[in-house]
Amino acid sequence: MFNKVNAEIVAALRRIAGGENVLYGPENAEALAPYAHDEVVGLSAEPEAVVRVTSAQQVSEIFRLAQAARVPVTPRGAGYGLSGGAVPVQGGIVLSLERMNRILEIDRENLMAVVEPGVITGDIHRAVEAEGLFYPPDPASLDSCTIGGNIAEGAGGPRAVKYGVTKDYVTGLEAVLPSGEIIRCGGKLVKDVTGYNLTQLLIGSEGTLAVVTEITLKLLPLPKVQIDLLAPFADFQAAADAVSKIIEQRILPTAIEFMERDSILAVERLLERKLPHRDAAAHLLIQLDGNHQAAVDADFEIVGEVCLAAGAQDVLVAKDRRTRERLWEARRKIIEALKHESPINHMEDVVVPRAQIPAALRGIKEIGRRHGVRIVCFGHAGDGNVHVNALKDDLPVERWDALVPVLSAEVYRLTLALGGMITGEHGIGVTRRPYLAMALSEPQIALMRGIKAAFDPHGILNPGKIFP
Ligand SMILES: Cc1cc2nc3c(=O)[nH]c(=O)nc-3n(C[C@H](O)[C@H](O)[C@H](O)COP(=O)(O)OP(=O)(O)OC[C@H]3O[C@@H](n4cnc5c(N)ncnc54)[C@H](O)[C@@H]3O)c2cc1C
Repeated sequence: MFNKVNAEIVAALRRIAGGENVLYGPENAEALAPYAHDEVVGLSAEPEAVVRVTSAQQVSEIFRLAQAARVPVTPRGAGYGLSGGAVPVQGGIVLSLERMNRILEIDRENLMAVVEPGVITGDIHRAVEAEGLFYPPDPASLDSCTIGGNIAEGAGGPRAVKYGVTKDYVTGLEAVLPSGEIIRCGGKLVKDVTGYNLTQLLIGSEGTLAVVTEITLKLLPLPKVQIDLLAPFADFQAAADAVSKIIEQRILPTAIEFMERDSILAVERLLERKLPHRDAAAHLLIQLDGNHQAAVDADFEIVGEVCLAAGAQDVLVAKDRRTRERLWEARRKIIEALKHESPINHMEDVVVPRAQIPAALRGIKEIGRRHGVRIVCFGHAGDGNVHVNALKDDLPVERWDALVPVLSAEVYRLTLALGGMITGEHGIGVTRRPYLAMALSEPQIALMRGIKAAFDPHGILNPGKIFP
C-alpha cells in the first residue's frame, strides 16, 4: 500500500530540512537505531529515514512530498511513549520534533506560555516557576518527554487529582495537516466556542491527525505552600481503601499516588538507597498545596488522621525541598526499576471512577494470583488511574507470550465492568489496538475512522495506530 523511501525522496528531504537533519542509509544505522522504538518492551521497527525538522514550514513541505510519494510519516517527540505511538510500524519517515525545542514566550499578563513541541516538559515547569507561575501537568517522565508528545497522548500525571491533565491547559495549537496545510486553532483565549473545538480534537489523537508545531498553554499562579506525606500500610487493601476515604473528606489533595511493596523494593535496588518502612505492603504518597500555610496544615491534619484510621503504620511528612525531591524521585523511578527487575514485563494503564479503586486493585491482584504471575500495581490512584505491571520473572517465554493477551483482556474486562476505560493516559497506539472494540462501540469507532479519513485521506500519517 505504501512506497519505500528512495534516493530521490532523500534528496528532496535534504533540500527541505538540510543534509545534517536527515538520517538515511547504512552509514547512519547507529544514529537511526534509537528511532526504532519507544519505551514499550519488545516493540521496534526501523525507520527508512529520520528528519529532524526545525519549522512548521519544513513539516508542511515534507507532508506534500510524502503524500505525493505515498510514504508514511510518523511524528516523534522524545520516544518516551508507552503504547508504541512513535514507532514507525509501517516504515517510511520518522519526523522528529526534538529540534523544535524553544520556549517562545512566557506571557505574564495573560498567564500563558507559547512553546514549540520539542520542549522537554520539565523545562517548561522550571521556566514558568522562575516567574512565579505554574504549569501543573507532571507526567512521571517529565524530565525526558516532550510537550508535543504530551499533547498527542493527552498525558496526565500525579497532580491530575486536583489540577487535571494536559488537555485542561492547552488553549491554542498550530498544526500541520497531512495535506501540508498549516492551521492555527484557539489562541491565548480563556473562552472560545468558534466552531468545532479542533484544539481538543487534536489532543490525545496520538499523532494520527496532524503534527503539532506550536502550543499555547494556560498557566496558573504558583501555589506558595506544599506538603508531601508518605503513609505506609501493612495491608495492601487498606491502602487502596484509604484513597477513597481521603476523597470522601471533600479535601482535594494535589496528588495521591499508590505504590505497592514490590515497586518500592525495586526502586531501592535501582537507587541503592533504603526507603522508609520498606516492609510495608503499600505506600500512599500524598501531596497537598495552597497559598496559606494554616489551610494546608489543616488539610494535612485531616488526611493524616484518615490514613491512620484506615490502618497506616505511620504518616511521614516531607516539608523541605530535598526530602520531597527524594520521595518523588523514588516514585518516578518505578517504571525504570521494574524494567531492571524483570526486563520482560507488560504494563497496563487502566482507569476507573475513583471510588472503584479498591475494587479494581483487589480484582487485579486476584487475576495475577489465578495465573501465577507477579503483578505489581502503582500509579495515580487519586484520579482512578492504576498502572498494572505484570513481570515475566522466570516464566518460560512461550507461557509468557500466551499469557500477556489473556491478562490484558481480563484486566480490561474487570475495568470496564467497574465503569472504567482501558487506558487513562498512555494511549492506544500499537499495543492496545486489538482491544479497542472491547471499550468502544462500532458506531464510535466508525465515527473516529471518519475523522481520521477527513484529516488524512491517504492514511500516510502514523499508520498502524489506534484502529483495530
Ligand atoms: C518512566 C515513564 C514514566 C511515565 N509517566 C507518565 C505519566 O505519569 N503520565 C503520562 O501521561 N505518561 C507517562 N509516561 C508516558 C509518556 O512519557 C508520555 O506518553 C509522553 O507524553 C510521551 O512523550 P514523548 O515526547 O516521549 O512522545 P513520543 O513517545 O515520542 O510520542 C508519543 C506519541 O505522540 C506523537 N507525537 C509526538 N510529538 C508529536 C507532535 N508534535 N505532533 C503530533 N504528534 C506527536 C507520536 O507520533 C506518538 O504517537 C511515562 C513514560 C515513562 C517511560
